[in-house]
Amino acid sequence: MNKYIFAERMKNFQASDIAAILKVTADPEIISFAGGLPAPELFPIDEMKEVVAYVLEKHGTKALQYSTTEGHVPLREKIASRMNRKYQTRLESDNIMITTGSQQSLDLLAKMFIDDGDVILCESPTYLGALSAFNGYNPRYVEVETDADGMVPEALEEALKREKRAKAVYVIPDFQNPTGKTWTFERRRAFMEVINRYNIVVFEDNPYGELRFKGVVPPSLKSFDTKGQVVLLGTFSKIFCPGMRIAWLCAEGEIYEKFSYLKQAADLHSPTLSQYEIDTYMEMYDLDAHVGRIIDVYKERCGIMIEAMRAELPPSVSYTVPEGGLFTWVVLPENLSARDVLMTCIEKKVAFVPGGAFFPNGGHENTLRLNYSNMPPERIVQGIKLLGNAIKEHLR
Ligand code: PMP
Repeated sequence: MNKYIFAERMKNFQASDIAAILKVTADPEIISFAGGLPAPELFPIDEMKEVVAYVLEKHGTKALQYSTTEGHVPLREKIASRMNRKYQTRLESDNIMITTGSQQSLDLLAKMFIDDGDVILCESPTYLGALSAFNGYNPRYVEVETDADGMVPEALEEALKREKRAKAVYVIPDFQNPTGKTWTFERRRAFMEVINRYNIVVFEDNPYGELRFKGVVPPSLKSFDTKGQVVLLGTFSKIFCPGMRIAWLCAEGEIYEKFSYLKQAADLHSPTLSQYEIDTYMEMYDLDAHVGRIIDVYKERCGIMIEAMRAELPPSVSYTVPEGGLFTWVVLPENLSARDVLMTCIEKKVAFVPGGAFFPNGGHENTLRLNYSNMPPERIVQGIKLLGNAIKEHLR
């Protein structure tokens, strides 16, 4: 007999078998393409020593104190102008709320909109961590057909007409986790044309958009939003340091207000010290230059991974060639299981995440996600060679 009687929702929170398998990736000998970790050698440690000392010296009593739920005003101002410059939005600091990672926004947005059995429309596949956050509110997921250009607008419209309980659409239009794909300009426009006709909210999650190796950053979905339907999420995790746990939500009116009530109830506010530190870093240093250094390293690693995949993977295997972000997505022949291939890979000391977990309604077990940001070039080459060998063994 169970000792405790847990809430019903706890059925939706379980250790996944994949998480258990991937625990082995903590072994430094393992070449891990599994996580989504930034390259730690790029963290601006020397600069942060100076920043932290300065913050404590100049703002110590405020930076170590409780603060407002919405967040540190100078930081919100900087974020608003940065978003407007990069993503063609028209945001003011009053539209920006500092959050404890974007992960917190995913949780609180679902809390705001989702009752048991409500429908969340999403890309197919989509970000696993978002599903974990949403699961606590018992949604039903409808995966909307998504091709190389983004979510298919006709499929979206058809789903919105059919699903009377559709409440929200969750999308990652820039260098998606897990596929690395980016929506085209045309798709963004067409998507927003459909959205405009319905009383539905969009969660636009964009942790990776700035990490673009070439070409121009396309406008955000939020930039097409005339009715306040789109809530745009950004984060310092991938362009700065994830350990600070500082991210932001962009929204208007009622959604912004209700979000502040939920956030206040959840954690009062995000860490004041982290907010002062990031704000001071942006005053003292050039964040864009830092992002430029991250891009250079990831671009090189991505290129090396793709080149190794061309050489080592059998022709029946396809993969995306990302133009930014942290991930590439591999599709194996239909009859192969990425979970089985992972078991072989782990024996060879290489790891990845099987793709099936990114599809909320199951299936697609022949897919997998590879991360290239966290391994040095020589280990990427070696790891892909081992992956290629494992796939070939399973094809025999
Ligand atoms: N959304 C997506 C698509 C992500 O990939 C991640 C991080 N892996 C997050 C949200 C959460 O980021 P944060 O560190 O800001 O909580």
